Amino acid sequence: MKFCLAGNPNSGKTTLFNALTGSTAHVGNWPGVTVDKREGSYKKLPEKVHIVDLPGIYSLSPYTPEEVVSRNFILDEKPDVIINIVDATNLERNLYLSTQLLETDVPMVIALNMMDAVEKNGDVVDKDKIEKTFGVPVVEISALKGKNINQLMKVAYDVSQKPRKGSSVIESSSLLKSLFQKTLTLYGEESCQNKVFHAVKMLEADELEVQLYPQIATITAELKKEIDAKSFDDDFGAVVADARYCFLSQHVQSAVKKAKRQEVSKSDKADRVLTHRIWGIPLFLLIMFGIFHFTFAEDFLFLNGIFGLEITNPGWINFFTGMGYEGMLEEALETGEAVVLGGIPSLGVWLQSWMGWLTGSIIDLFAGWLESAPAWLSGLICDGLLSGLDAIFSFLPQILLLFLFLSILEDSGYMARAAFIMDRAFRKFGLSGKAFMPLLMCFGCGVPGVMATKTLENEKERRMTMMIAPFFSCGAKLPIWLAFAGVMFAGQFGDLVVFSVYLIGIVVAIIAAIILKFTVLKGATPPFIMELPSYHLPQFRNLMAHLWEKLKHFIIKAGTIITASIVVIWFLSNFGFTFWNGMVEDIELSILGQIGNVIKYIFYPLGFAQGPDGWKFVVASITGLLAKEDVVATMEVLAGGAGLEAMIGGLSVAGAYSFMLFNLLAVPCMAMVAAVYGEMGSGKRTWGAIGFWVLTAYVVSMVVYWSVSYWWIGLILIVAVIAALTVLYLRNKKKRKAVAV
Ligand code: GDP
Ligand code: MG
Repeated sequence: MKFCLAGNPNSGKTTLFNALTGSTAHVGNWPGVTVDKREGSYKKLPEKVHIVDLPGIYSLSPYTPEEVVSRNFILDEKPDVIINIVDATNLERNLYLSTQLLETDVPMVIALNMMDAVEKNGDVVDKDKIEKTFGVPVVEISALKGKNINQLMKVAYDVSQKPRKGSSVIESSSLLKSLFQKTLTLYGEESCQNKVFHAVKMLEADELEVQLYPQIATITAELKKEIDAKSFDDDFGAVVADARYCFLSQHVQSAVKKAKRQEVSKSDKADRVLTHRIWGIPLFLLIMFGIFHFTFAEDFLFLNGIFGLEITNPGWINFFTGMGYEGMLEEALETGEAVVLGGIPSLGVWLQSWMGWLTGSIIDLFAGWLESAPAWLSGLICDGLLSGLDAIFSFLPQILLLFLFLSILEDSGYMARAAFIMDRAFRKFGLSGKAFMPLLMCFGCGVPGVMATKTLENEKERRMTMMIAPFFSCGAKLPIWLAFAGVMFAGQFGDLVVFSVYLIGIVVAIIAAIILKFTVLKGATPPFIMELPSYHLPQFRNLMAHLWEKLKHFIIKAGTIITASIVVIWFLSNFGFTFWNGMVEDIELSILGQIGNVIKYIFYPLGFAQGPDGWKFVVASITGLLAKEDVVATMEVLAGGAGLEAMIGGLSVAGAYSFMLFNLLAVPCMAMVAAVYGEMGSGKRTWGAIGFWVLTAYVVSMVVYWSVSYWWIGLILIVAVIAALTVLYLRNKKKRKAVAV
């Protein structure tokens, strides 16, 4: 038997799933999309039940990968029961999805979750009334407390024994009733299942449905002309949605009795501070900086000397291994001085030093084994493969730590606030913050971020979002920032270096969006309505599942595309055009060296291509087009004996920033280009996007290089940008006033 869990995001599906399946659970991917697929089994019923946790969705329309996955599962894989999880503290919104699930023929049970929270608030939910309204059993549960969940499964099992016919709330809409019935009879001759579902989707003019039954679509379109839907601009998707909402407000509102609230909920209190008009953005930046600091800083900058840690015990030295304090500590302890360490070392750097030690030892081990092997073999394995992989793997702890922090922000509900705050700010310049959610995902990986742009209905806004998506620094670019952070300013301001790259990326994205908005992609700013979920304590299990996904992705990528490109780069940098003559002595004579030394002139205005190692930076940027991890791996292979740090150290601050920004902004990676092509559906537009990225990267890097090199250039540019933004803000203010009047 097969049961599936369906419901809105944050309704508690995964919590229930974990409680039901325990150790049998495993997480995979739905074919073709990066959406988690959780499966497991439940054994306390007469039959063993296979349970699938569907991704969180608000509707069954085909706009997001989550919706498509859930819809296909329910229609094609024929589960025996849909367990529809509903957040009882937010009934009306959650039951909107239920009205759509009801339209399928699959037996269904509604689980009213979070009843513990409902009771705590003193609210009362009339379960019988909901049962009568929807015609399916309703069970009150608390997934978190494990209350009533076995009861729920018993009811689900009973339900699975009887077939169910789909029903729709449209039948009680006077406007749509007869149209619906006529459409339904058209399906009578088809041999399909879930006829009610199909008929309603056809009324909504659902893309997939129209493709599937073009003949019925033509007839229905004719029938629709008899209906007056002018107040909805003849958008039947909106007419049907309205019918659903009317039904819910008629039948559900009276099923909930809210207790009189004497005090404001804790969430509201927190929101007063966290989404404050003025403090919202500074607080967001502070939180982000705190995270970056804790992950990347060598030292606690601002509290230096205020919170000092007095070191008297030599054992402490081990604790600080690899952080550059050993020498200082040893000397001081010998002379009997007390040492006061300026600040708190960050967890990330500490973990990184251990990882570096581990990977370093592995390389030494191999080097020992291969001592008597032929030069090309030990070169390929030690100088090529192992050092290239080491360069990426040593940053793994910090990458995972950053993702842990971001997952905590996401799961706790703070990220939704961030989008809300950003919308308020963006709107002042005529942009909508709705795009911010997919963009936030790009901090993890641009591919799911680009796929999530499906949630934006406005075509121009979608395209704009994809155009600026790569400017949000993804996880694969992190090793580049970290390699630089450890070297620039003697590694003293690592957190600030990384933080600044992220910030510059966001600023460039905003400016680029504004420029696009007023040139190529003109259009009105669509309204942005979003529900803020209440704050939750993130669950350890969920967090670990996120991290595990990330780790798996990283290891697979390292084992395939990155290993392959390292081997190629090693070959190209160790052999000349006459490669049959054996390895070259001087890397400048290698194939890569010769090519790099020619094309580097294109990058001369950007600063980093100058100097003896210039061509290596150029080559690294180009290999980064394949996968961004390749940038650091390439640099490591090309740096040779002198080492990566010496190579980076050869750049000026201006050159270093120019290099980082070029890699941040230029073409993200092949996977992302493919995703953008898939969404834009046109080669011409995709090439347009690639051109736009390269141009932006080139211009920004050049501007930054020259501004940092000559401060007055920077000053003039900053003043110009501020002036332009002010003009735009004032113009928009006038426009918004005019609208308000
Ligand atoms: P999903 O997005 O539907 O998978 O939701 P999750 O299972 O991740 O749960 C979202 C949040 O709701 C988590 O922070 C859970 O701890 C919380 N939650 C889930 N079930 C309950 C419940 O029965 N009561 C309460 N108070 N919180 C719950
Ligand atoms: Mg979930």
